[in-house]
Amino acid sequence: MTFPSFSLSHELFPNLGTHQLIAKTTESTRNLCKSTLCLFLALAAPFVAYRGYQSFTMYRSSSSPYSPKTDAESLRRQRISSSKLHTPDVSSKAPVIYSSYYDISFLGIEKLHPFDSSKWGRICQFLISEGYLEKSSIVEPLEASTEDLLVVHTEAYLNSLKNSVNVAKITEVPPVALLPNWLVQMKVLYPLRRQVGGTVLAAKFAKERGWAINVGGGFHHCSGGRGGGFCAYADISLCIHFAFVLSNISRVMIIDLDAHQGNGHEMDFGNDERVYILDMYNPGIYPFDMTARNYINQKVDVVTGTTTGEYLKQLDKALEVARNSFAPELIIYNAGTDILDGDPLGGLKVSPDGVVQRDEKVFRFARERNIPIVMVTSGGYMKTSARVIANSIINLSEKGLLDTSVRGGRR
Ligand SMILES: [Zn+2]
Repeated sequence: MTFPSFSLSHELFPNLGTHQLIAKTTESTRNLCKSTLCLFLALAAPFVAYRGYQSFTMYRSSSSPYSPKTDAESLRRQRISSSKLHTPDVSSKAPVIYSSYYDISFLGIEKLHPFDSSKWGRICQFLISEGYLEKSSIVEPLEASTEDLLVVHTEAYLNSLKNSVNVAKITEVPPVALLPNWLVQMKVLYPLRRQVGGTVLAAKFAKERGWAINVGGGFHHCSGGRGGGFCAYADISLCIHFAFVLSNISRVMIIDLDAHQGNGHEMDFGNDERVYILDMYNPGIYPFDMTARNYINQKVDVVTGTTTGEYLKQLDKALEVARNSFAPELIIYNAGTDILDGDPLGGLKVSPDGVVQRDEKVFRFARERNIPIVMVTSGGYMKTSARVIANSIINLSEKGLLDTSVRGGRR
């Protein structure tokens, strides 16, 4: 019986005697063992190190309060606690939030986007001129600072906005790519950061007064790590995180009735059981986000061409299901008006009166159960949108679902 290694040694060392051969074989076996051991150690080292790191992080997350997850959460709480966004005094104001800084107007560049970029100011003008709102009772929000934005956004995403090409892609205005970034920050991103401040402040107002309307905001395509569809900041996600910490809220329902899918907040709260998402949108238009769709608690398709009657019937059913599914302490209502018939992007055929009825249904849903509601105006790209939104707010006021007068004062 011959060991293959021995015969192999003879083949390798034909001129050696048996003793020498045994010695040589032992030496070569030892060398072989050494090499094998070295090879094994080299291969095993990263694995051992990785398992060691895993055990370490498991130990940290199971036995130490300072796990990476709790570190991130405590940093988030710290940022929210030191923010100034909730500081404006709202006690002597109407729960309507707006700043003239919202409106984007710059060398006519705004005309390149199918977006009435001064609709926010026009909504207020209608309400003021028709006696439903006093200019002095409107609350002006602060700009969301970088620290505020980091509550939800990654540093990498915020840094990407320092490149005008990226901002051009997000806002869908190609010429923005050619502008120096300081100008883009000042003329495009600053107004949007003011609107973010408005949505965050609205939650404080809603908790105190039962409702609040941010005349802007509703950038529902933006998540913490990604912007798109004219949405550069995730104001809805930010508002909710601020409400968790500063308003003692633990259950939030998002009712997203913009014509488009709200993939931004869906990505941000995908696995968060504190947030329930009802999204009623046209699945045949942007953003076709199949991943985010998985995170919608209640998805209602309203296909291209859906008319007013059918739309409102679907909404009634959806609100009934939502009523029996989740008990929120705050509702964020994303009230896009791009469901209007004639909107170049929404694809739906809802009449102006249908939008008024839609808003009334959602406000009834919230107000009849005393759930604070924040409304943001989101998409709505036609010149007629501002008039329709103002009419809707007037209708809510007439129906007693909101009161735009200053607390204790006369309208
Ligand atoms: Zn939209």
